[in-house]
Amino acid sequence: MTISKKIIAVCCIVTHLATSCSANKKSSNDTLNSIKQTTTKVVKTPKRPNIIMILCDDLGYSDVGFNGSKDIKTPALDALANTGTKFTSAYVPHPFCGPSRAGIMTGRYAHTIGAQFNLPPNSETIGEGIDVNEKFMSKMLQESGYKTGLVGKWHLGANAKFHPNKRGFDYFYGFLGGGHEYHPKIYKQKYKAAEKKGQKIIFDYLKPLEENGTNVTNDTEYLTDVLSNQGVHFIEESSKKEDPFFLFMSYNAPHTPLEAKKEDMEVFSSIKDKNRRTYAAMVYAVDRGVSKIVKSLKTTGEYDNTLIIFYSDNGGRPDKGANNFPLKGRKGSVYEGGYRVPMFFHWPNIVPSGMIYDKPISALDLYPTFSKLAEAKLPDSKILDGKDMWTNFMENKEVHVNDNIFTMRHRNGFSDVGVRNGKWKAVKAFKEKWKLFDIEKDIAESKDISSKHPNVLKKLVEDAKVWSKSHIQPRWWHNEKTGEEWKADGMPHFDQAFNLEN
Ligand code: CA
Repeated sequence: MTISKKIIAVCCIVTHLATSCSANKKSSNDTLNSIKQTTTKVVKTPKRPNIIMILCDDLGYSDVGFNGSKDIKTPALDALANTGTKFTSAYVPHPFCGPSRAGIMTGRYAHTIGAQFNLPPNSETIGEGIDVNEKFMSKMLQESGYKTGLVGKWHLGANAKFHPNKRGFDYFYGFLGGGHEYHPKIYKQKYKAAEKKGQKIIFDYLKPLEENGTNVTNDTEYLTDVLSNQGVHFIEESSKKEDPFFLFMSYNAPHTPLEAKKEDMEVFSSIKDKNRRTYAAMVYAVDRGVSKIVKSLKTTGEYDNTLIIFYSDNGGRPDKGANNFPLKGRKGSVYEGGYRVPMFFHWPNIVPSGMIYDKPISALDLYPTFSKLAEAKLPDSKILDGKDMWTNFMENKEVHVNDNIFTMRHRNGFSDVGVRNGKWKAVKAFKEKWKLFDIEKDIAESKDISSKHPNVLKKLVEDAKVWSKSHIQPRWWHNEKTGEEWKADGMPHFDQAFNLEN
């Protein structure tokens, strides 16, 4: 640990008295307020933490111990969540991978930049990726002096100009497509066989991993373990430098294919369903990786000044072993199970320990929040769809007062839409009429109360319609058929989606 980082760490401990307790229970508010009042004049906001963003892929809402899982063991994640703050109303911007990640990295809804569909497999063949004029959060942090690393899945463009090293990551280890197989012996054999057959385009999931553009050959372990080890490597290297670091640990687990280590499967031998047992073992491997990351932070002296954020890019697939209980819907849905995700923040002595923040926030808030914490300049004229949430979060206040948190998913010839505003949630799904829920009382979206509050619903639908005017035409579709349907239908038929009578 460098001297300046030590000073920062000390500063953080003192600041804890001033701010982090403010999300605590009301009964002790008076005492806490007095601490706050007497100390805020002399204590500065902590400076430039390391930021580690751990993102899982298709992880179900209740598939981690800290969010209620009874059968999947996640001791390392639980330890962080229970000494940090858990979010129970955290939303990602889209219910599936590509548009969700595009939103997180750009701070904008994917529909506003033409990224509302997944890039197709082997996207290098269409030469598309997220608009290079949109500055990624990684680039913003890099320009402010952060050492930046991405380990794992990318899925935001595979051609040279969209490569992670061009989008603000000093270091990249992983794969460019939307997923990957997990057992190196098998994926390497399959890749070689495809090469031998003279196959020109070989499926992303089989391609060699790469490190800063160079193919890797020494990946002999289970993929999740390889990624965790590279994350540790990045932390160890970065800790030698004066500047703080940003590490995006982008695990593809527990996304399909369902492939786990034999010894991890044995941990869950009591789970009868094979999909669930395999999925549990895959999550367990992520948890083992997180324990290694925490250990390396402690060994390198970086732990106290590191903000760790954990969440999933979208909801889980029950048909592939996931569990979104108590939420309705699944990956791809605009019901809560599609895009409300397990999340926590952890930062010793800064982020309140053992607390729950139950007010809605969006992963779109991370871009401006990181900008604030890193003292990184926001790009000129940058459009952001989220808000810097830090101060309100730390004071346990609403971040989104009278704000709408939207999601929208296009299907064949129609669109699904979700709007959350405070306690209200409006939903249009599967060509059914719009419904309204009190999501604070009815997290499972089981009781449509639109007839009792027609004006509330009307306003939310109108807001969603106005929001949709900021969308642009998709720049790609995940397959040709979808593109043809879009063009033939004159999709997205916004007027139909926002008609209360339909
Ligand atoms: Ca995903």
